[in-house]
Amino acid sequence: MENILMDILFPVNECSLCREKGRFHSRRPWCQQCQNEIISTQNSRPICRKCGKYLDVPEASCCAECRDNPPEFKIARAVGPYCNDKLRKAVKVLKFLCRRYMSIKMGDMMGEVVIEEPAFWPIDIIVPVPISKGNLKQRGFNQSELLAKQISKILKRCMYPHLLRRIKETPSQRELTREERVENLLCAFEVTDPTKVDGKNVLLVDDVYTTGSTIRECTRVLLEAGAESVGVITWATGSGY
Ligand SMILES: [Zn+2]
Ligand SMILES: [Zn+2]
Repeated sequence: MENILMDILFPVNECSLCREKGRFHSRRPWCQQCQNEIISTQNSRPICRKCGKYLDVPEASCCAECRDNPPEFKIARAVGPYCNDKLRKAVKVLKFLCRRYMSIKMGDMMGEVVIEEPAFWPIDIIVPVPISKGNLKQRGFNQSELLAKQISKILKRCMYPHLLRRIKETPSQRELTREERVENLLCAFEVTDPTKVDGKNVLLVDDVYTTGSTIRECTRVLLEAGAESVGVITWATGSGY
């Protein structure tokens, strides 16, 4: 019902990614050509077996970051590389043009990645990475929560949108060094109800994996609250060496 309503409220007569004319809707927000391009970039380069970043050094099995500072999550994967135009555009259309319906197709594709990777399993609950209060106020929604909602439908697992809470507003991470980012994020999140996490295998959902510091901090907090394991799925991911 929600999808039909979205289609009526936001009639889209062009592809959200390349603006090709056609008939598009919430379950098919972009054209077949864009879809083919996204699929073809998925396996275009080898990835870090731990964090899923695309590797600039093809012979490595792990990125330098994961070698020097092994993450506590069991695995992180993405639908494709953030450097790809189409994947990047999809995030922008969802976040900045506030086209929430993009999350249906994006969430479906993220769910498929999880289904096809045995290392993710078992999964008991799904938790989105919370955004800052400022961003939530400005945007009106948390894009990671929308993605997590769709993934929970695909995987048939419960999603808890407020199980992780941001308790410290953090300035932009972009300009900071790795050490500063870690410091900046320390105690930035808390688990609101540890009984829901205790002994559970958690799938953590975010839109983009960039430096990994937010994901790492959320993982740490979930494990500290008693989670059995944490796996991470994002729409797009960066490159490493
Ligand atoms: Zn297109
Ligand atoms: Zn890595």
